[in-house]
Amino acid sequence: MVRHSSRIELSLAALKQNINFIRKKIGTDAIFSSVVKADAFGHGIGTFVPMAEKAGIRHFSVASSYEAWEVSEARTKESTIMIMGILYDDDMEWVIKNEVEFFVFDLPRLKKAKAAAEMIGKKAIIHLEVETGGNRTGLEESKLDEALEYIKQHSEWIRFEGFCTHYAGIESLSNQFRTRKQLDKFEKLYERTTQSGIEPNLKHTACSAAALAFPETVMDLVRIGTAHYGMWPSPDIYNVHLQQTGKKRDAPLKRVLTWKTDVMHIKEIKKDEFVGYGTSYQAPRDMKIAVLPLGYSNGYPRTLSNRGEVIIRGKKAPVVGLINMNVFMVDVSHNENVEVGDEVVLIGRQKNHVISIRSFSEFTNAINNELVSRLPDAIPRVAVK
Ligand SMILES: *Cc1c(COP(=O)(O)O)cnc(C)c1O
Repeated sequence: MVRHSSRIELSLAALKQNINFIRKKIGTDAIFSSVVKADAFGHGIGTFVPMAEKAGIRHFSVASSYEAWEVSEARTKESTIMIMGILYDDDMEWVIKNEVEFFVFDLPRLKKAKAAAEMIGKKAIIHLEVETGGNRTGLEESKLDEALEYIKQHSEWIRFEGFCTHYAGIESLSNQFRTRKQLDKFEKLYERTTQSGIEPNLKHTACSAAALAFPETVMDLVRIGTAHYGMWPSPDIYNVHLQQTGKKRDAPLKRVLTWKTDVMHIKEIKKDEFVGYGTSYQAPRDMKIAVLPLGYSNGYPRTLSNRGEVIIRGKKAPVVGLINMNVFMVDVSHNENVEVGDEVVLIGRQKNHVISIRSFSEFTNAINNELVSRLPDAIPRVAVK
């Protein structure tokens, strides 16, 4: 097998623990939908979906019909797939045939769904996403009555599976007033819906932050991304958890992902020499440098130039110089035995040291989800215990 310049390991034990922890917060009744958009937040749909199934998940949410297809290729059980975003007209037929569920947030999509369902002779399974103040997708209130009437009239071809919305920034407590308004609006629209004489099978609003911190947002299904990969949606949500439990610190969410590479080359350099392109790093003393075989094209952020850290032989090694397209250098002067081929941890634990995903965010201002979701598809993913 030809080898890639880095590799990602996914921990099944960590995933199981995260799901158990979230379950404790949401109770036993709600369907747990694992949000695997963006290639399972960079974890890799092909590896992650079967792992999630092993951990008991039977429902997956994605952003597009393309991702729905990816999940359908990866699943090993009869798990349900739900599209929350883009669904091209051309893909409608495949989606309905394969019983993929999808959000409807405008009348044209609703009509298209009915037409396609009728043509194929199989029901379209829809989740009506209503506008509650997020102003992203969501059916406007003014169109609700028409949509409900249409669903009622065409119930032969439309299964009204869900009624839902998405919060705009619920991970930040300073946004609470807006969250509250969204929830109130949602309940009002739901009431109007049931009064019209039809009822969806499921009601759902909660993402990770909502499920962890706001029990009133947990209804018949939760859509969980961030948290089940082992990341806190925000410091606010972590602090709510500490308040709820009375603990001073706690680590119930475990990072699923570990990212590793190997030392490609070693170099001894003299004081005052520059390292790599340009003059951003000048050796303050004689140094030993390890050259690593990946760079910004492989998902290692260029903003970590002269700032990031990796772990080699149980010791931290700081990045020196610029992150190049597919190489960067670290200082191993204090780590004499380092040699070519040594394992390098980019994200994860080695001996007593850990590089967290959060540490990347602190250096780069990128959010955790941004870093992981940009890990290139080409890096091999492997499930471990
Ligand atoms: C991404 C997304 C989620 C999951 O959000 P997390 O905060 O990562 O749990 C849920 N619902 C919708 C509509 C989304 O787009």
